[in-house]
Amino acid sequence: MHIAALHQPSQVQLNQQGNLKHFLTIEGLSKESLTKILDTAQSFLDENNNLINRPLLEGLTVMNLFFENSTRTRTTFEAAAKRLSANVLNIDIARSSTSKGETLRDTLWNLEAMAADIFVVRHSSSGAAHFIAKDVCPNVAIINAGDGRHAHPTQAMLDMLTIRRETKKPFEQLSVAIIGDIKHSRVARSNVAALQTLGCKDIRVIAPNTLLPVGFNEYGEHVRLFNQMNGGVTDCDVIIALRIQNERIDSPALASQSEFYKMYGLNKERLALAKPDCIVMHPGPMNRGVEIDSSVADGDQSVILKQVTNGIAVRMAVLALAMQGQLQEQGLIEAISL
Ligand code: ASP
Repeated sequence: MHIAALHQPSQVQLNQQGNLKHFLTIEGLSKESLTKILDTAQSFLDENNNLINRPLLEGLTVMNLFFENSTRTRTTFEAAAKRLSANVLNIDIARSSTSKGETLRDTLWNLEAMAADIFVVRHSSSGAAHFIAKDVCPNVAIINAGDGRHAHPTQAMLDMLTIRRETKKPFEQLSVAIIGDIKHSRVARSNVAALQTLGCKDIRVIAPNTLLPVGFNEYGEHVRLFNQMNGGVTDCDVIIALRIQNERIDSPALASQSEFYKMYGLNKERLALAKPDCIVMHPGPMNRGVEIDSSVADGDQSVILKQVTNGIAVRMAVLALAMQGQLQEQGLIEAISL
C-alpha cells in the first residue's frame, strides 16, 4: 500500500463517539485525542517517575505479533499489558505457520479464535496494521507497533510525553530538531505529525539530501530542512537523533558511517550550540559513534532511558483507551473507566 493512501485513517481508528478504538497512526487525530493519551499516560506515573499498576484489562488478552525485530517496543508493550493485569501472549512469528506459507489473514483469524482482545502488530510493510484493522478483526483493537517506514505512533507519543515532562514548556514554544535518516524513518514521520498537531511551530529536519524523502515537502507546516548540523541545532530545546535504517535502504545512501558521523554525529560541540537545557533523545537502538557520541548519549542532557520508562506508561494508556473505545462501540463502556 502506498504511504499516501494511509493518510485518511481517522474513520478506521476512531469509534462513533470519536474515541480511539485502534491506534494506527498519528495523522487524523486531534490535539485533544493526543493530549488525552498523554494525560492518561501521565496518570500511570507518580511524581518520582515510578509506574503505577492498574488492573484495567483484567481478564482480557493482548497478543504481541512482531513480524520484525524489536527489543524496547515488544518488551514495553508486554510490561504495559501486565501492569494493566491483561493476559499477554507473545506469538513467535519466526516459528509460526506464516513461515509454512499460511497467509497473514489466516494466521490472524486463528489467533482471533483464541479470544484475542488486542493485537499489537509490528510489520516491515507500510500499511500492515491498517490492513488488519480494516479487514480482519471487527471487535479486536489493533495497535500499530511500527509498520515499515510509515508510522510508529506509540514511539511518537512516548517522545511527546518525554518532551512535555522534561522541558515543562508548551509545545508552541519549543524548537525541536530531528537528525539523521528521515527518509526511511517511521519515527521521524510520526514525530513530525505529533509535534504539528500539538502546536510546535519550529520543527527542524537535519539530514543529507540522500536521507530525505524524495521532493522534500511532504511534512508540511512549520517544518524546515537543514543540510548542516550547525544552523539546525542552534538554540534548540529538543534534539532527537535517529539511526540509519540500513535494513530499509537498497543502495548505499552514504559514503560511509564515519563520513556521516563527521557531518551529522551529535557530539558535545554541536550540542553546545543548542539551548543550555536542551534535552537529547533517541528512540533506540543507538549506533554510538555514528549518529551520536557516547559522551552525549550518556551525558547529563540525555533523557534516552526516561523515554523507555515513559514508553510503558504511554503503551498502558493506548491499550486501555483503545479497549475502552472498542467496548464503547459494543455498548459495554462500563467495563473500563479511566
Ligand atoms: N526502534 C525504532 C523503530 O522501530 C527506531 C529504529 O529502529 O531505529 O522504528
